[in-house]
Amino acid sequence: MPQSRFFTALGEAKLQCTLCPRGCVIPPGGRGRCGVRGNQAGHAELVYYGAVTALQIDPIEKKPLYHYRPGSRIFSVGFAGCNLQCPFCQNWHISQITGREPLPRLALRYCSPEALVKAAQAEQVLQIAYTYSEPLIHLEFLRDCMACAREAGIANVLVSNGCINPEAAQTILGLTDAANIDLKCFSEDTYRRILGGDLATVLDFITQAWKTGVHLELTTLVVPGLNDQDEEIDRCIAFLASLSPQIPWHLSAYHPAYTWNAAPTDPKRLISLAYRARETLSYVYTGNIASAFSSTSSTQDTICPHCGQTLIRRQGYRIQNTGFVLHGSGPTCPVHCGHCGKAVPIVGYVG
Ligand code: SF4
Repeated sequence: MPQSRFFTALGEAKLQCTLCPRGCVIPPGGRGRCGVRGNQAGHAELVYYGAVTALQIDPIEKKPLYHYRPGSRIFSVGFAGCNLQCPFCQNWHISQITGREPLPRLALRYCSPEALVKAAQAEQVLQIAYTYSEPLIHLEFLRDCMACAREAGIANVLVSNGCINPEAAQTILGLTDAANIDLKCFSEDTYRRILGGDLATVLDFITQAWKTGVHLELTTLVVPGLNDQDEEIDRCIAFLASLSPQIPWHLSAYHPAYTWNAAPTDPKRLISLAYRARETLSYVYTGNIASAFSSTSSTQDTICPHCGQTLIRRQGYRIQNTGFVLHGSGPTCPVHCGHCGKAVPIVGYVG
Protein backbone atom coordinates (compact mmCIF):
# COMPACT_ATOMS: atom_id res chain seq x y z
CA MET A 1 0.00 0.00 0.00
CA PRO A 2 1.50 3.43 -0.95
CA GLN A 3 2.46 5.67 1.95
CA SER A 4 0.69 8.93 2.72
CA ARG A 5 2.06 11.83 4.71
CA PHE A 6 -1.39 13.33 5.12
CA PHE A 7 -2.24 11.44 8.29
CA THR A 8 -1.17 12.34 11.83
CA ALA A 9 -0.97 9.71 14.58
CA LEU A 10 -3.03 10.53 17.69
CA GLY A 11 -3.32 8.52 20.90
CA GLU A 12 -5.09 5.13 21.16
CA ALA A 13 -4.15 4.22 17.56
CA LYS A 14 -6.39 6.96 16.17
CA LEU A 15 -5.32 8.89 13.05
CA GLN A 16 -6.22 12.34 11.84
CA CYS A 17 -6.45 12.88 8.10
CA THR A 18 -4.97 16.26 7.17
CA LEU A 19 -5.87 16.22 3.48
CA CYS A 20 -8.95 18.43 3.61
CA PRO A 21 -10.45 20.91 6.08
CA ARG A 22 -12.76 18.27 7.56
CA GLY A 23 -9.72 16.90 9.44
CA CYS A 24 -11.44 13.59 10.24
CA VAL A 25 -10.23 11.78 13.35
CA ILE A 26 -10.40 8.11 12.38
CA PRO A 27 -10.46 5.31 14.98
CA PRO A 28 -8.94 1.89 14.17
CA GLY A 29 -11.16 0.09 11.67
CA GLY A 30 -12.88 3.35 10.68
CA ARG A 31 -13.02 5.63 7.64
CA GLY A 32 -13.10 9.37 7.14
CA ARG A 33 -16.23 11.15 5.88
CA CYS A 34 -15.23 10.68 2.24
CA GLY A 35 -15.22 6.90 2.74
CA VAL A 36 -11.90 6.33 1.00
CA ARG A 37 -9.27 7.11 3.66
CA GLY A 38 -9.16 4.75 6.61
CA ASN A 39 -7.34 3.46 9.65
CA GLN A 40 -6.28 -0.16 9.76
CA ALA A 41 -5.04 -0.97 13.25
CA GLY A 42 -3.37 2.43 13.60
CA HIS A 43 -1.98 2.52 10.05
CA ALA A 44 -3.20 4.74 7.22
CA GLU A 45 -5.32 2.85 4.74
CA LEU A 46 -5.97 4.15 1.21
CA VAL A 47 -9.04 2.01 0.72
CA TYR A 48 -9.62 2.68 -2.97
CA TYR A 49 -6.06 3.21 -4.22
CA GLY A 50 -6.20 2.32 -7.94
CA ALA A 51 -9.98 1.76 -7.99
CA VAL A 52 -11.84 3.48 -10.80
CA THR A 53 -15.56 3.71 -11.45
CA ALA A 54 -15.38 4.86 -15.07
CA LEU A 55 -12.95 4.93 -17.99
CA GLN A 56 -14.23 6.61 -21.10
CA ILE A 57 -13.40 9.13 -23.80
CA ASP A 58 -15.23 12.45 -23.80
CA PRO A 59 -15.08 15.67 -25.79
CA ILE A 60 -13.01 18.08 -23.68
CA GLU A 61 -15.95 20.52 -23.81
CA LYS A 62 -17.81 18.12 -21.49
CA LYS A 63 -15.44 18.75 -18.53
CA PRO A 64 -16.21 21.69 -19.22
CA LEU A 65 -13.02 23.19 -20.66
CA TYR A 66 -13.66 25.67 -23.49
CA HIS A 67 -10.25 27.36 -23.72
CA TYR A 68 -7.93 24.37 -23.41
CA ARG A 69 -7.37 22.27 -26.54
CA PRO A 70 -10.93 22.93 -27.79
CA GLY A 71 -12.23 20.23 -30.10
CA SER A 72 -10.01 17.49 -28.65
CA ARG A 73 -10.89 14.19 -26.99
CA ILE A 74 -9.98 13.40 -23.40
CA PHE A 75 -9.55 10.09 -21.59
CA SER A 76 -11.74 10.41 -18.48
CA VAL A 77 -11.13 8.50 -15.26
CA GLY A 78 -13.80 8.39 -12.55
CA PHE A 79 -13.35 7.64 -8.86
CA ALA A 80 -15.48 6.72 -5.84
CA GLY A 81 -16.30 8.96 -2.89
CA CYS A 82 -16.27 12.68 -2.10
CA ASN A 83 -15.34 14.88 0.84
CA LEU A 84 -18.39 17.10 0.24
CA GLN A 85 -22.04 16.12 0.59
CA CYS A 86 -23.88 18.37 -1.88
CA PRO A 87 -27.56 17.40 -1.61
CA PHE A 88 -28.07 18.04 -5.36
CA CYS A 89 -25.05 16.00 -6.51
CA GLN A 90 -25.62 14.69 -10.03
CA ASN A 91 -23.09 11.90 -9.53
CA TRP A 92 -24.24 10.94 -6.03
CA HIS A 93 -24.30 7.20 -6.83
CA ILE A 94 -20.48 7.27 -7.11
CA SER A 95 -19.71 10.22 -4.80
CA GLN A 96 -21.78 9.48 -1.69
CA ILE A 97 -20.50 6.05 -0.75
CA THR A 98 -20.22 6.34 3.05
CA GLY A 99 -22.42 3.68 4.64
CA ARG A 100 -23.40 2.25 1.26
CA GLU A 101 -20.80 -0.48 0.88
CA PRO A 102 -20.61 -2.96 -0.70
CA LEU A 103 -21.05 -0.90 -3.85
CA PRO A 104 -22.65 -3.23 -6.38
CA ARG A 105 -23.57 -0.61 -8.98
CA LEU A 106 -20.14 0.97 -9.10
CA ALA A 107 -18.40 -1.92 -10.87
CA LEU A 108 -15.01 -0.90 -9.51
CA ARG A 109 -11.98 -1.77 -11.58
CA TYR A 110 -8.46 -1.70 -10.23
CA CYS A 111 -5.61 -0.47 -12.37
CA SER A 112 -2.09 0.83 -11.92
CA PRO A 113 -1.04 4.34 -12.98
CA GLU A 114 1.03 2.76 -15.79
CA ALA A 115 -1.97 0.77 -17.07
CA LEU A 116 -4.11 3.89 -17.06
CA VAL A 117 -1.60 5.86 -19.12
CA LYS A 118 -1.18 2.94 -21.53
CA ALA A 119 -4.97 2.78 -21.97
CA ALA A 120 -5.02 6.49 -22.90
CA GLN A 121 -2.10 5.99 -25.31
CA ALA A 122 -3.86 3.02 -26.94
CA GLU A 123 -6.76 5.37 -27.74
CA GLN A 124 -4.31 7.98 -29.09
CA VAL A 125 -5.62 10.53 -26.61
CA LEU A 126 -3.20 13.22 -25.46
CA GLN A 127 -4.82 14.11 -22.13
CA ILE A 128 -6.34 12.44 -19.09
CA ALA A 129 -9.13 13.97 -16.98
CA TYR A 130 -9.49 12.96 -13.33
CA THR A 131 -13.18 13.56 -12.90
CA TYR A 132 -16.81 12.49 -12.18
CA SER A 133 -16.33 12.05 -8.42
CA GLU A 134 -13.73 13.89 -6.31
CA PRO A 135 -10.18 12.98 -7.43
CA LEU A 136 -8.34 14.93 -4.70
CA ILE A 137 -9.34 12.54 -1.91
CA HIS A 138 -7.31 9.95 -3.86
CA LEU A 139 -4.32 12.27 -3.80
CA GLU A 140 -1.66 9.55 -3.63
CA PHE A 141 -3.06 7.65 -6.65
CA LEU A 142 -3.66 10.92 -8.46
CA ARG A 143 -0.05 12.01 -7.89
CA ASP A 144 1.26 8.64 -9.18
CA CYS A 145 -0.97 8.77 -12.29
CA MET A 146 -0.09 12.39 -13.02
CA ALA A 147 3.66 11.73 -12.74
CA CYS A 148 3.35 8.74 -15.07
CA ALA A 149 1.26 10.69 -17.59
CA ARG A 150 3.63 13.67 -17.50
CA GLU A 151 6.55 11.35 -18.27
CA ALA A 152 4.63 9.91 -21.24
CA GLY A 153 3.87 13.40 -22.61
CA ILE A 154 0.19 13.21 -21.71
CA ALA A 155 -1.48 16.27 -20.17
CA ASN A 156 -3.22 16.08 -16.79
CA VAL A 157 -6.64 17.69 -16.36
CA LEU A 158 -8.19 17.98 -12.93
CA VAL A 159 -11.95 18.37 -12.44
CA SER A 160 -12.47 19.00 -8.76
CA ASN A 161 -14.31 20.72 -5.92
CA GLY A 162 -10.98 22.27 -4.88
CA CYS A 163 -11.59 21.61 -1.18
CA ILE A 164 -8.13 20.48 -0.12
CA ASN A 165 -5.52 21.89 2.26
CA PRO A 166 -2.67 23.89 0.66
CA GLU A 167 0.18 21.49 1.53
CA ALA A 168 -1.63 18.57 -0.09
CA ALA A 169 -2.58 20.72 -3.10
CA GLN A 170 1.06 21.54 -3.66
CA THR A 171 1.88 17.87 -4.35
CA ILE A 172 -0.27 17.74 -7.50
CA LEU A 173 -0.58 21.29 -8.84
CA GLY A 174 2.89 21.21 -10.38
CA LEU A 175 1.78 18.14 -12.37
CA THR A 176 -1.56 19.63 -13.42
CA ASP A 177 -1.82 21.17 -16.90
CA ALA A 178 -5.44 22.31 -16.78
CA ALA A 179 -8.25 22.31 -14.26
CA ASN A 180 -11.91 23.03 -13.95
CA ILE A 181 -12.67 23.84 -10.33
CA ASP A 182 -16.12 24.24 -8.78
CA LEU A 183 -16.90 27.50 -7.06
CA LYS A 184 -20.15 26.21 -5.63
CA CYS A 185 -21.29 29.48 -4.04
CA PHE A 186 -19.77 32.46 -2.25
CA SER A 187 -21.20 31.83 1.20
CA GLU A 188 -19.12 30.38 4.02
CA ASP A 189 -22.34 29.31 5.73
CA THR A 190 -23.63 27.37 2.68
CA TYR A 191 -20.27 25.68 2.18
CA ARG A 192 -20.12 24.58 5.83
CA ARG A 193 -23.75 23.80 6.65
CA ILE A 194 -25.10 22.39 3.37
CA LEU A 195 -22.12 21.19 1.33
CA GLY A 196 -19.73 20.14 4.12
CA GLY A 197 -16.84 22.18 2.72
CA ASP A 198 -14.98 25.40 3.37
CA LEU A 199 -15.14 28.48 1.13
CA ALA A 200 -11.77 29.93 2.20
CA THR A 201 -10.00 26.65 1.40
CA VAL A 202 -11.57 26.51 -2.06
CA LEU A 203 -10.64 30.13 -2.80
CA ASP A 204 -7.07 29.40 -1.66
CA PHE A 205 -6.88 26.35 -3.90
CA ILE A 206 -8.13 28.29 -6.93
CA THR A 207 -5.61 31.05 -6.23
CA GLN A 208 -2.81 28.54 -5.73
CA ALA A 209 -3.67 26.80 -9.03
CA TRP A 210 -3.73 30.13 -10.88
CA LYS A 211 -0.39 31.23 -9.42
CA THR A 212 1.17 27.84 -10.29
CA GLY A 213 0.32 28.46 -13.96
CA VAL A 214 -2.39 25.81 -14.34
CA HIS A 215 -4.81 26.58 -17.19
CA LEU A 216 -7.86 27.37 -15.08
CA GLU A 217 -11.61 27.44 -15.70
CA LEU A 218 -14.31 27.59 -13.01
CA THR A 219 -17.81 26.16 -12.81
CA THR A 220 -20.76 27.20 -10.67
CA LEU A 221 -23.92 25.11 -10.59
CA VAL A 222 -26.63 27.75 -10.20
CA VAL A 223 -29.20 26.37 -7.74
CA PRO A 224 -32.36 28.49 -7.31
CA GLY A 225 -32.68 29.84 -3.78
CA LEU A 226 -29.21 28.64 -2.80
CA ASN A 227 -26.66 30.71 -4.73
CA ASP A 228 -28.53 32.53 -7.54
CA GLN A 229 -28.98 35.93 -5.90
CA ASP A 230 -27.34 38.86 -7.71
CA GLU A 231 -25.27 39.78 -4.63
CA GLU A 232 -23.75 36.32 -4.33
CA ILE A 233 -23.05 36.09 -8.06
CA ASP A 234 -21.41 39.53 -7.82
CA ARG A 235 -19.09 38.25 -5.07
CA CYS A 236 -18.04 35.36 -7.33
CA ILE A 237 -17.44 37.83 -10.17
CA ALA A 238 -15.32 40.09 -7.96
CA PHE A 239 -13.20 37.15 -6.83
CA LEU A 240 -12.58 35.93 -10.38
CA ALA A 241 -11.83 39.46 -11.58
CA SER A 242 -9.28 39.83 -8.77
CA LEU A 243 -7.35 36.88 -10.25
CA SER A 244 -8.00 37.66 -13.91
CA PRO A 245 -11.13 38.69 -15.86
CA GLN A 246 -9.90 36.34 -18.60
CA ILE A 247 -10.52 33.14 -16.60
CA PRO A 248 -13.47 31.33 -18.25
CA TRP A 249 -16.48 30.86 -15.96
CA HIS A 250 -19.17 28.25 -16.62
CA LEU A 251 -22.62 28.85 -15.14
CA SER A 252 -24.38 25.53 -15.22
CA ALA A 253 -28.10 24.86 -14.76
CA TYR A 254 -29.15 22.69 -11.85
CA HIS A 255 -31.70 19.88 -12.31
CA PRO A 256 -33.27 17.97 -9.40
CA ALA A 257 -30.98 15.18 -8.22
CA TYR A 258 -30.13 13.13 -5.12
CA THR A 259 -32.13 14.65 -2.23
CA TRP A 260 -32.77 18.16 -3.70
CA ASN A 261 -36.18 18.46 -5.38
CA ALA A 262 -36.55 22.20 -6.04
CA ALA A 263 -37.50 23.26 -9.59
CA PRO A 264 -34.63 23.39 -12.12
CA THR A 265 -32.79 26.62 -12.87
CA ASP A 266 -34.79 28.83 -15.22
CA PRO A 267 -32.68 29.11 -18.43
CA LYS A 268 -33.63 32.78 -18.80
CA ARG A 269 -32.33 33.52 -15.31
CA LEU A 270 -29.10 31.65 -16.04
CA ILE A 271 -28.58 33.59 -19.28
CA SER A 272 -29.28 36.91 -17.54
CA LEU A 273 -26.66 36.03 -14.89
CA ALA A 274 -24.17 35.22 -17.65
CA TYR A 275 -24.77 38.60 -19.30
CA ARG A 276 -24.40 40.29 -15.91
CA ALA A 277 -21.05 38.53 -15.40
CA ARG A 278 -19.89 39.39 -18.93
CA GLU A 279 -19.97 43.06 -17.98
CA THR A 280 -16.87 42.33 -15.86
CA LEU A 281 -15.48 38.99 -17.04
CA SER A 282 -14.43 38.30 -20.62
CA TYR A 283 -15.53 34.68 -21.02
CA VAL A 284 -18.71 33.52 -19.27
CA TYR A 285 -20.69 30.53 -20.54
CA THR A 286 -23.97 28.82 -19.74
CA GLY A 287 -24.28 25.05 -19.64
CA ASN A 288 -26.79 22.30 -19.05
CA ILE A 289 -29.68 24.14 -20.74
CA ALA A 290 -31.61 23.26 -23.90
CA SER A 291 -29.80 24.34 -27.08
CA ALA A 292 -32.90 26.37 -28.09
CA PHE A 293 -32.08 28.79 -25.27
CA SER A 294 -28.29 28.86 -25.63
CA SER A 295 -28.31 29.25 -29.43
CA THR A 296 -30.51 32.35 -29.29
CA SER A 297 -28.48 33.90 -26.47
CA SER A 298 -24.94 32.98 -27.73
CA THR A 299 -23.92 32.31 -24.13
CA GLN A 300 -22.27 29.07 -25.26
CA ASP A 301 -20.15 30.89 -27.81
CA THR A 302 -16.78 32.58 -27.36
CA ILE A 303 -17.12 36.27 -28.21
CA CYS A 304 -14.20 38.64 -28.57
CA PRO A 305 -14.49 40.96 -25.54
CA HIS A 306 -12.84 43.80 -27.52
CA CYS A 307 -14.89 43.96 -30.74
CA GLY A 308 -17.82 41.52 -30.28
CA GLN A 309 -16.78 39.12 -33.06
CA THR A 310 -18.02 35.55 -32.50
CA LEU A 311 -14.83 33.50 -32.33
CA ILE A 312 -16.13 30.00 -31.59
CA ARG A 313 -19.71 28.84 -32.06
CA ARG A 314 -20.79 25.82 -29.99
CA GLN A 315 -23.70 23.45 -30.44
CA GLY A 316 -23.66 20.91 -27.68
CA TYR A 317 -20.09 19.63 -27.71
CA ARG A 318 -19.50 20.54 -31.37
CA ILE A 319 -17.44 23.63 -32.07
CA GLN A 320 -16.83 25.77 -35.12
CA ASN A 321 -14.22 28.46 -35.70
CA THR A 322 -16.22 31.48 -36.82
CA GLY A 323 -13.76 34.27 -36.36
CA PHE A 324 -10.30 33.66 -34.97
CA VAL A 325 -6.96 33.11 -36.60
CA LEU A 326 -4.07 30.86 -35.57
CA HIS A 327 -0.57 32.22 -35.90
CA GLY A 328 1.42 29.06 -36.59
CA SER A 329 0.63 25.51 -35.51
CA GLY A 330 1.12 23.22 -32.53
CA PRO A 331 -0.23 23.16 -28.99
CA THR A 332 1.12 26.56 -27.95
CA CYS A 333 0.16 28.40 -31.13
CA PRO A 334 -1.31 31.83 -30.25
CA VAL A 335 -4.94 32.59 -31.11
CA HIS A 336 -6.09 36.05 -32.19
CA CYS A 337 -9.42 37.60 -33.08
CA GLY A 338 -9.71 37.64 -36.88
CA HIS A 339 -11.52 41.00 -36.76
CA CYS A 340 -9.63 43.21 -34.29
CA GLY A 341 -6.43 41.15 -33.97
CA LYS A 342 -6.43 41.03 -30.15
CA ALA A 343 -5.00 37.93 -28.43
CA VAL A 344 -7.50 35.33 -27.20
CA PRO A 345 -6.54 33.09 -24.23
CA ILE A 346 -7.15 29.73 -25.93
CA VAL A 347 -4.54 26.98 -25.70
CA GLY A 348 -3.99 24.32 -28.35
CA TYR A 349 -6.99 24.63 -30.68
CA VAL A 350 -7.73 21.32 -32.38
CA GLY A 351 -11.07 22.12 -33.97
S1 SF4 B 1 -10.04 13.66 2.80
FE1 SF4 B 1 -11.65 12.33 3.64
S2 SF4 B 1 -10.79 11.43 5.49
FE2 SF4 B 1 -9.47 13.15 4.92
S3 SF4 B 1 -10.24 14.87 6.15
FE3 SF4 B 1 -11.27 14.97 4.16
S4 SF4 B 1 -13.20 13.81 4.38
FE4 SF4 B 1 -11.86 13.29 6.13
